Amino acid sequence: MVTRQSPVTVLPGIGKAKAAAYERLGILTLGDLLLHYPRAYENRGDIRLLSETAPDGKSAVLLTVASEPKSVRLRSHKSFLKFRAFDESGSCEIVYFNQDYLKSKFPVGAVYRFYGRVERSGRSYKMSAPAAEAWAESVPLPPYRAVYRMTEGISQNQIVKDVEAALELLAAEEVDPLPATLREKRSLCTLPYALRHIHRPTDRESLLIARKRLIYDEFLTFSLGTAMAGRRTRTGTAPACKRQELSPLTEKLTYTLTDAQRRAIDEIRADMARDIPMSRILVGDVGCGKTVCAAAAMLIALQNGLQAALMAPTEILARQHYADLAPLFGEMGYSCALLVGATPAAEKRRIKAALAERDPEKRLSVVIGTHALLTDDVEFAFAGLVVTDEQHRFGARQRARLAEKSEHAHLLVMSATPIPRSLALVLYGDLAISRIDEMPPGRQRVDTFAVDESYRERLNGFIERQVAEGGQVYVVCPAVDEEKDAGEVELSELLSEEASVVGRAPMKNAIGHAESLRERFPSLRIAHLHGRMKSREKDDVMLRFAAGEIDVLVSTTVIEVGVNVPNACLMIVENAERFGLSQLHQLRGRVGRGRRKSWCILVAGENVSTGGPAYRRLDVMRSTYDGFAIAEKDLAERGPGDFLGSAADGSLRQSGGLSFRLGDVAEDSAILGQAAEDARAMLGEDAELLAHPALAERVREVFTLEEGLIS
Ligand code: ADP
Ligand code: MG
Repeated sequence: MVTRQSPVTVLPGIGKAKAAAYERLGILTLGDLLLHYPRAYENRGDIRLLSETAPDGKSAVLLTVASEPKSVRLRSHKSFLKFRAFDESGSCEIVYFNQDYLKSKFPVGAVYRFYGRVERSGRSYKMSAPAAEAWAESVPLPPYRAVYRMTEGISQNQIVKDVEAALELLAAEEVDPLPATLREKRSLCTLPYALRHIHRPTDRESLLIARKRLIYDEFLTFSLGTAMAGRRTRTGTAPACKRQELSPLTEKLTYTLTDAQRRAIDEIRADMARDIPMSRILVGDVGCGKTVCAAAAMLIALQNGLQAALMAPTEILARQHYADLAPLFGEMGYSCALLVGATPAAEKRRIKAALAERDPEKRLSVVIGTHALLTDDVEFAFAGLVVTDEQHRFGARQRARLAEKSEHAHLLVMSATPIPRSLALVLYGDLAISRIDEMPPGRQRVDTFAVDESYRERLNGFIERQVAEGGQVYVVCPAVDEEKDAGEVELSELLSEEASVVGRAPMKNAIGHAESLRERFPSLRIAHLHGRMKSREKDDVMLRFAAGEIDVLVSTTVIEVGVNVPNACLMIVENAERFGLSQLHQLRGRVGRGRRKSWCILVAGENVSTGGPAYRRLDVMRSTYDGFAIAEKDLAERGPGDFLGSAADGSLRQSGGLSFRLGDVAEDSAILGQAAEDARAMLGEDAELLAHPALAERVREVFTLEEGLIS
């Protein structure tokens, strides 16, 4: 019997190679395939006259075939098919390559909806290989067609076909895990309807109905899962760490701890003294001094004969931590090693053996590294504490493995995203929170300004001057999805009534902007960084920037949250209105970390009017420097979306603490509220969800995979 858990190879035509390609998209089963929601929809319902089509994106046109298709042979066995079709505004040449069999498909006089790029050639138009659907007044064509995220070896059409097949196969089998009473109470459609229409909407209405149900499911599963996981963590055990002598560490510091650091360390000590595993998150602005708190926790583990691990999301960060901490632990008499992807194999073997070593004399005490620490063959003889830095940047599977590995260890998570108190409860219901809300003394203030396009020349002069004086500059642009065609719409855009009105204000994108800066400043060393680069390439650019070999770094928000480049003194954020205040605050934290006087300049996009609310919002940054205050303001203004990671580049949403595929907590906060309320009520009556096995199963699936918290 075919179920959601069946591998994709049960579909006709899916062999080893295609299955491997699907695996690259994280799709192993039919269920995964159905959860591969479209990243956008082709707006084929927005039919235009040839004369009204935009040259830079795909459009839908309704054309009548005017001439018999002619096949033209080329040398090298190639051929193309050519005919003309027209509407009231003009005539269009249509061409298909190597598809002679289409010849009979287009009889003269027949009407088709063509979708594709319309090129203007002289006074006529041309479309190459457009999608074509026969048009009949009586049978309306669906206006939206799903566009999927792809990978090499899997085409758009292949995914469309396979999703269709999976929907067919599962149609009968699919049970709705949601109790009917809840479905009625919240006016939700059934799950099969929702899945069908998210992939194959008949119209905008059905798409929105489907979306609402699927989002409710995400939020409900999340609410149930966090509540159930919270209970679970309180029942496991971990070694109680009774010895807690921190003076060997504090004596070595060249500074005294701030009160906030002291408080956080006290909270950690109390947790670790118990035999219940600590699950604590340490939150504080970049530069507030979280690392030393982690070092204190690690020292406690070591003093109790246990091992400590520190995991960072990138190799650069891991190396930075190692450089800071290895000497400290060394002086206190503890061995410490660095384990990253680039560590030579022999060295890796040696480290792994030393970690698993039972003999305390030979055993490795501290390991610092990247997700290389998560491979199966890394075993700790006596793991006491696992610390992760910027955990939200790890992928879901990585976090699940981490949770497995640290099952009986204390867990400390560090994050530079200041989370408003109210939201922290929803987000990290399972983690206790320590907040460091105080900066070490003597930190400089980064002067902040909001400007508009009219300042462009002055801004350029400012960049030039900073570099001439030996400083370095960050320029951050919002990420634009380069894959996205101007004719496509995203679900979020469909939420507003005027969805089909295409026409976004132009945005600076990192690659293009770097290009124009290179033209403007031929003598400066300018590099760019964006989310689609391989992590090795990103690391390389970042290291060269840190080494002072790059003057201006143009990037999307991928710039490493924790990397310290004290020589950087100017942060420019383009289209700053696109960013949340908290995000701007974090970006600002990248500069002002050394001796240089530093600035943060927020450039409003062309569509933002000076004096308008979007501009005033940016102006808040000028007077406010407290990350927590900014976070509260952000929450009040924009809702919790930013904290859940609808970051400008979207990367956080995928890898975030909460991988909502569709839900946007800012946009859909009402649904989140309902789901949270329903989850509470259900668990109040039935703590293990015994009455709803299908739902319990769904929660387990999502949470072992995405959180690793429920066993
Ligand atoms: P983050 O919280 O961003 O991880 P770090 O732990 O990297 O911050 O600390 C930033 C810098 O501040 C480091 O160079 C660290 O040595 C220094 N530092 C930490 N605590 C203090 C303190 N109490 N007084 C002075 N400097 C401190
Ligand atoms: Mg840090």
